[in-house]
Amino acid sequence: MGKITGFIEFEREKQPYRPIKKRIKDWRQVMEPWPVEPLKVQAARCMDCGIPFCHQGCPLGNLIPDWNDLVYRDQWKEAIHRLHATNNFPEFTGTLCPAPCEGSCVLGINDDPVTIKAVELSIIDRAWENGWIKPILPQIKTDKKVAIIGSGPAGLAAAQQLRRAGHEVTVYERDDRIGGLLRYGIPEFKMEKRQLDRRLGQMEIEGVMFKTNCHVGVNIPVEDLQNNFDALLLTGGACAPRDLKVPGRELKGIHFAMEFLPLQNRRCEGDDIPDAEFISAKGRHVVIIGGGDTGADCLGTVHRQGCASVHQLEILPKPPNIRSPDNPWPEWPFIYRTSAAHDEGGERVYAVSTKCFIDDGKGRVKALELIKVEMKRKDGRMTFAEVPGSEHLLPCDLALLAMGFLGPEKPGMLEQLEVKFTDRGNVARDKNWMTNVPGVFTAGDMQRGQSLIVWAIAEGRSAARGIDLYLMGSSDLPAPV
Ligand SMILES: Cc1cc2nc3c(=O)[nH]c(=O)nc-3n(C[C@H](O)[C@H](O)[C@H](O)COP(=O)(O)OP(=O)(O)OC[C@H]3O[C@@H](n4cnc5c(N)ncnc54)[C@H](O)[C@@H]3O)c2cc1C
Repeated sequence: MGKITGFIEFEREKQPYRPIKKRIKDWRQVMEPWPVEPLKVQAARCMDCGIPFCHQGCPLGNLIPDWNDLVYRDQWKEAIHRLHATNNFPEFTGTLCPAPCEGSCVLGINDDPVTIKAVELSIIDRAWENGWIKPILPQIKTDKKVAIIGSGPAGLAAAQQLRRAGHEVTVYERDDRIGGLLRYGIPEFKMEKRQLDRRLGQMEIEGVMFKTNCHVGVNIPVEDLQNNFDALLLTGGACAPRDLKVPGRELKGIHFAMEFLPLQNRRCEGDDIPDAEFISAKGRHVVIIGGGDTGADCLGTVHRQGCASVHQLEILPKPPNIRSPDNPWPEWPFIYRTSAAHDEGGERVYAVSTKCFIDDGKGRVKALELIKVEMKRKDGRMTFAEVPGSEHLLPCDLALLAMGFLGPEKPGMLEQLEVKFTDRGNVARDKNWMTNVPGVFTAGDMQRGQSLIVWAIAEGRSAARGIDLYLMGSSDLPAPV
């Protein structure tokens, strides 16, 4: 709970970041470690609120007041035990999570919430620095074998849980490196990949086996896995991109965000990608279509690549600075936010829609025709009415489409398995995370749709319990969701 009067005495401080002028010249992580003493003051703001709504706000059910109190009292080793009790990878969430826990912090009713995410990150950083994180080898060995398909946070969390429960676990990944969107979606400046590699090293010693360049349903038959394993877990994510089917879409210089971002991540990993295969924003007038987090990742990337200008477009109106009356605490606050990439520059444009891409005469995009829109609600549904006469051109010779994702990719593995889908096109499952195919389970974005790392880890943990139960008849593994 921190210091009993801490929330009255101390104000919320901001996470320190590297200076903008310096950081946009490299790919290193933008966040700086928070020095211990001022961080303890932040932990002290956690009050004895009685019912810690942050527990529910966090999909993992993180025991937040416990570790805030331990940090305030300088008991860091205890704090990491408490944190690891609910979260396999606090370094991923402490770095990348939008922190729904802070949205439901009781102090947030009439004050700024506790800096929960920063406290989490400091605990795990200190634990790694001090060598407190050791591989945890299974105490028993079952004779059961589990194949996990997809190595994002959902697959990794499930793999670690299942291995520690004594099963033989193999993770199959179609890419050349393990990590899912942590590896090839999230830019290096948001999370340095050494954080991921360090955790994978721990998992390898624990006995999790990783197989890369294995595209299940393409170069690895699904049937082989079904024959050779006792259970399968599908954690293949939801990366089918939403397209913008307007005239001119076929022009050169228009790419999905997930065609653009992985190339830079590969270069950051040291891969030699010839310029002819690379998508670069250097010297270009960039327009990012989509005002969300994927768009912000494109924004930070084009700054670092040396773009001439950049606009980020959003069809929705600019959100309010404070919660609107129909968005009360402890709901997730839909308010105006800026990420580190926004602080670095570029212009955000709200309430516009793209009518078409304009050809430069040589087959490359040279501008977008935009129109202002007004959001209306009809029968509970959102619609966008064009504002007559508001058409205008925006110069652009590189357009990046970051308008969200439609769900999991169906051809290949999912079609071959004949799994059923929900109305929203995600893989359907029962309460124990099993699909309609006996012994085949699912978790993460593949069954939820594109979401958050914290949800992926929580679901990976819960699905691990479902699988353990299926294999052994009972399970001691926790199920946060
Ligand atoms: C650009 C971007 C930035 C994001 N930033 C954040 C952020 O800052 N914070 C946050 O909380 N969330 C963020 N997200 C969302 C978050 O990354 C995802 O919700 C999370 O990674 C989902 O985890 P997952 O394990 O379900 O799937 P993924 O991370 O998508 O991993 C799925 C893996 O499965 C592999 N795969 C798929 N099919 C097969 C197959 N048939 N055979 C073998 N392998 C297969 C894929 O190659 C992939 O590696 C971001 C998403 C994007 C796109």
